[in-house]
Amino acid sequence: MIVARTRAELETALARLPRPLGAVPTMGALHAGHLSLARRARAENASVALTIFVNPTQFLPHEDFERYPRPLEQDLALAEEVGVDLVFAPPVEEVYPPGFATTVSVAGPSQHWEGVCRPGHFTGVATVVTRLLNLLRPERAYFGEKDYQQLQVVRRLVSDLALPVEIVGCPTVRDPDGLALSSRNVYLSPEERQRALALSRALFTAAERVAAGERDARALEALMHQHVSAAGLEVDYLAVVDPVSLEPVSEIRHPARALGAVRVGTVRLIDNVALVPPP
Ligand code: AMP
Repeated sequence: MIVARTRAELETALARLPRPLGAVPTMGALHAGHLSLARRARAENASVALTIFVNPTQFLPHEDFERYPRPLEQDLALAEEVGVDLVFAPPVEEVYPPGFATTVSVAGPSQHWEGVCRPGHFTGVATVVTRLLNLLRPERAYFGEKDYQQLQVVRRLVSDLALPVEIVGCPTVRDPDGLALSSRNVYLSPEERQRALALSRALFTAAERVAAGERDARALEALMHQHVSAAGLEVDYLAVVDPVSLEPVSEIRHPARALGAVRVGTVRLIDNVALVPPP
């Protein structure tokens, strides 16, 4: 496995890799969710490149950029284990050299939910994803449904800018009790982790109700609120949305998505599930 730190090292390494190339952009602190993306990329491509970059522009000033976990040696060992060929782990100035002055801003699916709670977040995401895709020039790039709105923003971005890459969305990997894996779960105390389960349980309850014939989105949102409030979680949003536009829906006649963001103490968690009405 090659580890590239600079754009020059990346270019040299890319020239040696057989195509097609699958790219897996991450912020590191790798867990089984990230590794599922890397394995999928491994199965579908001749080469796999995983990027590890804690992108400062997608964090708001008060957020956890400084304390975000950065266990690089452990990440490299895990990447190697799943058959990654190339890790690109650049310092900030390789991604944002002096004079960097461009942002990529996606409207549409950015406009609700995370876009409201974290203003500017998706502009940071879209800018870094555009730059990483242009540096790696992969045939395919793998993103998790865990960050469902981000996945739709990236799909919109790639379509609107005609970027020559196929975006592959991958299912959310969960702990056996349902908690979606996240690099931020390490911040949870055992007691907080237990209460955090209310988020995935609320979302799964909504999905069960929809499968059983419930179509009223507001009723489902109220139900999810009850679940997470009972566990003492602060709700940023719990919403039933169109799976592509991310606009709220009122009646579930077609597949939709339930999205949630909550705060457990100082830790902010997001999750989502598919809502599939009966035929
Ligand atoms: P991050 O390092 O949090 O920026 O995540 C990098 C990629 O891994 C993103 O495409 C995420 O959606 C994806 N990812 C994070 N957690 C999970 C998970 N539990 N299951 C599947 N994919 C995930």
